[in-house]
Amino acid sequence: NKQVIFKDYINGYPKTSDMLLTSDATVCLELPNNNNDGPLVLTKNLYLSCDPYMRNRMNKSMEGSYIDSFTPGSPVIGYGVSRVLDSSHPDFKKGDLIWGLINWEEYSLIKDTSSLIKIQHTDVPLSYYTGILGMPGMTAYVGFHKICSPKKGDTIFVSAASGAVGQLVGQFAKLYGCYVVGSAGSQEKVDLLKNKFGFDEAFNYKEEQDLDSALKRYVPNGIDIYFENVGGKMLEEVLRNMRLNGRVAVCGMISQYNLDQPEGIRNLFLLVMKRIRMEGFIVFDSYHLYPKFLEMILPLIHEGKITYVEDTVEGLEHGPAALVGLFSGKNVGKQLVVVAHE
Ligand code: NDP
Repeated sequence: NKQVIFKDYINGYPKTSDMLLTSDATVCLELPNNNNDGPLVLTKNLYLSCDPYMRNRMNKSMEGSYIDSFTPGSPVIGYGVSRVLDSSHPDFKKGDLIWGLINWEEYSLIKDTSSLIKIQHTDVPLSYYTGILGMPGMTAYVGFHKICSPKKGDTIFVSAASGAVGQLVGQFAKLYGCYVVGSAGSQEKVDLLKNKFGFDEAFNYKEEQDLDSALKRYVPNGIDIYFENVGGKMLEEVLRNMRLNGRVAVCGMISQYNLDQPEGIRNLFLLVMKRIRMEGFIVFDSYHLYPKFLEMILPLIHEGKITYVEDTVEGLEHGPAALVGLFSGKNVGKQLVVVAHE
């Protein structure tokens, strides 16, 4: 059983050498007898998701994280898609497909089954359950529809717009009737935003000397909604360009995750002057909406009204580089790792 082990807590940017690929020749493909741990699920793991929040689990301190730190010497944990090989859990049976939190390994014996969701719809790519039909999809749905309080005709600005969450927020906003502008870190990503996801405008923030003037150029009438994925300087300059009664949905701040000290935002008084509502949210609080979300999104996928771009690497051994790559923008679209094709 190949595994990716988290070596030890880190500071600064993550490196592939912070994780170690190990291989254990003994794989037990049966449930243990006489188990007193409660229901168990034995899985063959197919797809693993690389997500920015996983960096926060590499910190010793939980201060900057909303989920427990990883345990040094134990496998990296993340969302994934698996096939059930055996199960003593009443909700899952042999042959089922599931998504949820799993170890980065080929086969898992899952004791904490609380995050597992049975996959009911297989007429879409299974890998979608790491992205559009999984945690990032739910994040975009809750973030846009519940936190942004959109109105038809609003102008929305999305940062990290071509990523797992951002590409969906932009498309949801277009379907809703908003004017949508995004920023991303390369020309290739900007082209995707405009030509594939239907953004009205997009720019490469890395090429702009002055973000304030870039925003004034691309969003001249101001921003009603900011879907915040990056934090730092971008947030500061967006606040300057918000309209009265604007809303900022704070989804994440990836530019801050590798810093020892988060950067300060100097112009928060603009919230008062412009009557802006700024609200953070965490997708974990909203999984009860998952069935409703599926009802909304599956027809949109089938009718081709929404599209999803994935960045796929083959092989568990390439997982660490894929995860680390999120923090330099290497991924184009949702980053995932194929452990095994079905
Ligand atoms: P992405 O697929 O967008 O991948 C991360 C992207 O962030 C990179 O490709 C890169 O794109 C950009 N990035 C990396 N470093 C920086 C930086 N220093 N400054 C600006 N941009 C940077 O990730 P997700 O869509 O999965 O996540 C987007 C955000 O949503 C993250 O902040 C994440 O933590 C948050 N999130 C929050 C959830 C919640 O419940 N609140 C749930 C899921 C995600 P580029 O080339 O454009 O720079």
